[in-house]
Amino acid sequence: MIPFAIDKGSPEQVVPKFRVEDRLKTEFQEAVIKFYLENGRSYPWRRTNDPFKILVAEILLRLTGAWKAEAVYEEIIRSYGTVESMSKAKTKELKRIIRPLGLSHRATLLVDISKDIINRFGGRVPDDFAALVSLKGVGRYTANAVLCLGYGRKVPLVDESVRRIFVRCLNFRSTKPAYLDNDLWSFAAKLLPDKRIKEYNLGLLDLGATLCKYPKSLCCKCPLQTSKRGPLRIR
Ligand code: SF4
Repeated sequence: MIPFAIDKGSPEQVVPKFRVEDRLKTEFQEAVIKFYLENGRSYPWRRTNDPFKILVAEILLRLTGAWKAEAVYEEIIRSYGTVESMSKAKTKELKRIIRPLGLSHRATLLVDISKDIINRFGGRVPDDFAALVSLKGVGRYTANAVLCLGYGRKVPLVDESVRRIFVRCLNFRSTKPAYLDNDLWSFAAKLLPDKRIKEYNLGLLDLGATLCKYPKSLCCKCPLQTSKRGPLRIR
Protein backbone atom coordinates (compact mmCIF):
# COMPACT_ATOMS: atom_id res chain seq x y z
CA MET A 1 0.00 0.00 0.00
CA ILE A 2 1.21 3.48 -0.79
CA PRO A 3 0.28 5.84 2.02
CA PHE A 4 0.88 9.03 0.05
CA ALA A 5 -1.24 9.15 -3.06
CA ILE A 6 0.05 11.66 -5.51
CA ASP A 7 -1.51 13.67 -8.22
CA LYS A 8 1.18 13.24 -10.85
CA GLY A 9 -0.52 15.45 -13.36
CA SER A 10 0.48 15.41 -16.97
CA PRO A 11 4.12 14.66 -17.78
CA GLU A 12 5.01 18.31 -18.17
CA GLN A 13 3.66 18.99 -14.68
CA VAL A 14 5.93 16.46 -13.04
CA VAL A 15 9.33 17.52 -11.65
CA PRO A 16 11.14 19.79 -11.89
CA LYS A 17 7.96 21.90 -12.13
CA PHE A 18 6.52 20.56 -8.91
CA ARG A 19 5.01 22.10 -5.87
CA VAL A 20 4.62 20.30 -2.59
CA GLU A 21 1.59 21.12 -0.49
CA ASP A 22 2.87 22.79 2.70
CA ARG A 23 0.63 21.09 5.25
CA LEU A 24 1.43 17.63 3.98
CA LYS A 25 5.07 18.43 3.60
CA THR A 26 5.17 19.41 7.27
CA GLU A 27 3.50 16.15 8.29
CA PHE A 28 5.99 14.17 6.24
CA GLN A 29 8.93 16.04 7.78
CA GLU A 30 7.60 15.63 11.31
CA ALA A 31 7.06 11.89 10.86
CA VAL A 32 10.62 11.44 9.57
CA ILE A 33 12.17 13.54 12.37
CA LYS A 34 10.15 11.70 15.02
CA PHE A 35 11.28 8.39 13.55
CA TYR A 36 14.89 9.49 13.83
CA LEU A 37 14.57 10.73 17.40
CA GLU A 38 12.99 7.44 18.47
CA ASN A 39 14.78 4.95 16.22
CA GLY A 40 17.86 6.64 14.77
CA ARG A 41 20.94 4.46 14.51
CA SER A 42 23.92 5.44 16.60
CA TYR A 43 27.36 5.59 14.99
CA PRO A 44 30.51 7.39 16.14
CA TRP A 45 30.46 9.72 13.13
CA ARG A 46 26.99 10.81 14.13
CA ARG A 47 28.25 11.96 17.51
CA THR A 48 30.46 14.64 16.04
CA ASN A 49 29.95 17.73 13.97
CA ASP A 50 33.61 17.95 12.99
CA PRO A 51 33.49 18.36 9.18
CA PHE A 52 36.76 16.49 8.70
CA LYS A 53 35.62 13.46 10.70
CA ILE A 54 32.38 13.46 8.73
CA LEU A 55 34.32 13.60 5.48
CA VAL A 56 36.48 10.65 6.61
CA ALA A 57 33.37 8.68 7.59
CA GLU A 58 31.65 9.31 4.26
CA ILE A 59 34.68 8.07 2.34
CA LEU A 60 34.88 4.95 4.51
CA LEU A 61 31.15 4.27 4.16
CA ARG A 62 31.23 4.04 0.37
CA LEU A 63 30.15 0.55 -0.70
CA THR A 64 30.64 -0.49 2.91
CA GLY A 65 28.15 -1.44 5.61
CA ALA A 66 28.08 1.02 8.51
CA TRP A 67 28.56 -1.72 11.14
CA LYS A 68 31.71 -2.85 9.33
CA ALA A 69 33.13 0.67 9.03
CA GLU A 70 32.70 1.53 12.72
CA ALA A 71 35.89 -0.04 14.14
CA VAL A 72 37.99 1.15 11.20
CA TYR A 73 36.64 4.69 11.54
CA GLU A 74 37.47 4.78 15.25
CA GLU A 75 41.00 3.51 14.69
CA ILE A 76 41.62 6.07 11.95
CA ILE A 77 40.23 8.94 13.99
CA ARG A 78 42.41 7.97 16.99
CA SER A 79 45.57 8.39 14.93
CA TYR A 80 44.58 10.70 12.09
CA GLY A 81 41.58 12.66 13.32
CA THR A 82 42.72 16.03 11.98
CA VAL A 83 43.49 17.32 8.49
CA GLU A 84 47.07 17.95 9.62
CA SER A 85 47.71 14.45 10.99
CA MET A 86 46.00 12.77 8.03
CA SER A 87 48.07 14.76 5.55
CA LYS A 88 51.20 13.28 7.15
CA ALA A 89 49.91 9.73 7.43
CA LYS A 90 51.89 6.89 5.90
CA THR A 91 49.59 5.40 3.25
CA LYS A 92 50.97 1.92 3.99
CA GLU A 93 49.80 2.17 7.60
CA LEU A 94 46.45 3.66 6.58
CA LYS A 95 45.92 0.88 4.05
CA ARG A 96 46.56 -1.67 6.78
CA ILE A 97 43.77 -0.12 8.87
CA ILE A 98 41.35 0.17 5.94
CA ARG A 99 42.08 -3.30 4.48
CA PRO A 100 39.19 -5.08 6.31
CA LEU A 101 36.78 -2.85 4.38
CA GLY A 102 38.38 -3.46 0.98
CA LEU A 103 38.96 -0.57 -1.43
CA SER A 104 42.18 0.31 0.34
CA HIS A 105 42.93 2.98 -2.30
CA ARG A 106 40.82 5.10 0.02
CA ALA A 107 43.96 5.49 2.13
CA THR A 108 45.70 7.41 -0.64
CA LEU A 109 42.52 9.38 -1.27
CA LEU A 110 42.27 10.49 2.37
CA VAL A 111 45.89 11.65 2.41
CA ASP A 112 45.54 13.46 -0.94
CA ILE A 113 42.36 15.22 0.14
CA SER A 114 43.98 16.34 3.41
CA LYS A 115 47.02 17.73 1.61
CA ASP A 116 44.73 19.55 -0.80
CA ILE A 117 42.70 21.04 2.06
CA ILE A 118 45.93 22.33 3.59
CA ASN A 119 47.30 23.67 0.33
CA ARG A 120 44.17 25.31 -1.03
CA PHE A 121 41.97 25.97 2.02
CA GLY A 122 44.44 26.65 4.82
CA GLY A 123 43.71 23.35 6.57
CA ARG A 124 39.99 24.01 7.04
CA VAL A 125 37.45 21.73 5.39
CA PRO A 126 35.58 24.09 3.04
CA ASP A 127 32.00 24.98 3.86
CA ASP A 128 31.15 25.68 0.26
CA PHE A 129 29.68 23.13 -2.17
CA ALA A 130 31.81 24.09 -5.17
CA ALA A 131 34.99 23.94 -3.10
CA LEU A 132 34.05 20.58 -1.61
CA VAL A 133 33.33 18.93 -4.94
CA SER A 134 36.62 20.29 -6.26
CA LEU A 135 38.36 17.89 -3.84
CA LYS A 136 39.48 14.61 -5.35
CA GLY A 137 36.87 11.88 -4.96
CA VAL A 138 34.23 14.14 -3.41
CA GLY A 139 30.85 14.16 -5.11
CA ARG A 140 27.45 15.66 -4.40
CA TYR A 141 26.44 13.27 -1.63
CA THR A 142 29.70 13.57 0.33
CA ALA A 143 29.80 17.35 -0.10
CA ASN A 144 26.23 17.68 1.19
CA ALA A 145 26.94 15.31 4.10
CA VAL A 146 29.77 17.60 5.20
CA LEU A 147 27.62 20.71 4.71
CA CYS A 148 24.60 19.30 6.53
CA LEU A 149 26.16 17.21 9.31
CA GLY A 150 29.27 19.35 9.79
CA TYR A 151 28.05 22.87 9.10
CA GLY A 152 24.31 22.57 9.72
CA ARG A 153 23.36 23.66 6.21
CA LYS A 154 19.95 23.09 4.70
CA VAL A 155 20.91 20.65 1.95
CA PRO A 156 19.48 17.23 1.07
CA LEU A 157 21.13 13.83 1.37
CA VAL A 158 19.88 11.38 -1.20
CA ASP A 159 21.15 7.85 -1.54
CA GLU A 160 19.44 4.81 -3.06
CA SER A 161 17.44 4.15 0.10
CA VAL A 162 16.05 7.70 0.14
CA ARG A 163 15.29 7.36 -3.55
CA ARG A 164 13.28 4.22 -2.74
CA ILE A 165 11.17 6.15 -0.21
CA PHE A 166 10.41 8.90 -2.72
CA VAL A 167 9.60 6.42 -5.46
CA ARG A 168 7.54 4.02 -3.37
CA CYS A 169 5.91 6.37 -0.96
CA LEU A 170 5.65 9.65 -2.82
CA ASN A 171 5.21 8.25 -6.32
CA PHE A 172 8.27 10.14 -7.48
CA ARG A 173 9.29 9.12 -10.98
CA SER A 174 12.94 8.21 -11.14
CA THR A 175 14.67 5.93 -13.57
CA LYS A 176 18.24 6.92 -12.80
CA PRO A 177 20.54 6.07 -9.92
CA ALA A 178 20.22 8.62 -7.11
CA TYR A 179 23.60 10.22 -7.71
CA LEU A 180 22.69 10.98 -11.34
CA ASP A 181 19.12 12.14 -10.91
CA ASN A 182 19.11 15.94 -10.72
CA ASP A 183 15.31 16.09 -10.47
CA LEU A 184 15.44 13.75 -7.48
CA TRP A 185 17.88 16.07 -5.70
CA SER A 186 15.70 19.08 -6.53
CA PHE A 187 12.68 17.28 -5.17
CA ALA A 188 14.57 16.29 -2.01
CA ALA A 189 15.65 19.90 -1.51
CA LYS A 190 12.03 21.03 -1.84
CA LEU A 191 10.96 18.67 0.94
CA LEU A 192 13.57 19.85 3.48
CA PRO A 193 12.32 21.33 6.75
CA ASP A 194 13.65 24.67 8.01
CA LYS A 195 14.80 23.20 11.31
CA ARG A 196 16.31 19.89 12.43
CA ILE A 197 17.81 19.30 8.99
CA LYS A 198 20.31 16.82 10.40
CA GLU A 199 17.65 14.75 12.14
CA TYR A 200 15.45 14.85 9.05
CA ASN A 201 18.19 13.75 6.65
CA LEU A 202 19.44 11.02 8.99
CA GLY A 203 15.86 9.93 9.63
CA LEU A 204 15.25 9.45 5.91
CA LEU A 205 18.48 7.49 5.53
CA ASP A 206 17.63 5.28 8.52
CA LEU A 207 14.07 4.77 7.44
CA GLY A 208 15.26 3.71 4.01
CA ALA A 209 17.89 1.38 5.45
CA THR A 210 15.75 -0.28 8.10
CA LEU A 211 12.14 -0.21 6.86
CA CYS A 212 11.90 0.85 3.24
CA LYS A 213 14.36 -1.88 2.34
CA TYR A 214 15.19 -3.53 -0.95
CA PRO A 215 13.54 -5.66 -2.21
CA LYS A 216 10.76 -5.70 0.34
CA SER A 217 9.58 -2.84 2.53
CA LEU A 218 8.21 -3.16 6.05
CA CYS A 219 5.32 -0.77 5.56
CA CYS A 220 3.37 -2.17 8.52
CA LYS A 221 6.06 -0.79 10.88
CA CYS A 222 6.63 2.48 9.07
CA PRO A 223 5.48 5.83 10.50
CA LEU A 224 4.86 7.12 6.98
CA GLN A 225 2.30 4.38 6.58
CA THR A 226 0.51 4.89 9.85
CA SER A 227 0.47 8.68 10.06
CA LYS A 228 -2.86 10.23 9.31
CA ARG A 229 -2.52 12.45 6.34
CA GLY A 230 -4.01 13.29 3.03
CA PRO A 231 -2.33 13.11 -0.32
CA LEU A 232 0.99 14.83 -0.83
CA ARG A 233 0.47 16.63 -4.09
CA ILE A 234 3.15 17.35 -6.59
CA ARG A 235 2.28 19.51 -9.51
S1 SF4 B 1 8.30 1.29 4.23
FE1 SF4 B 1 7.47 3.31 4.74
S2 SF4 B 1 8.47 4.69 3.28
FE2 SF4 B 1 8.67 2.62 2.44
S3 SF4 B 1 6.90 2.32 1.07
FE3 SF4 B 1 6.36 1.51 3.13
S4 SF4 B 1 5.31 3.22 4.13
FE4 SF4 B 1 6.47 4.09 2.42
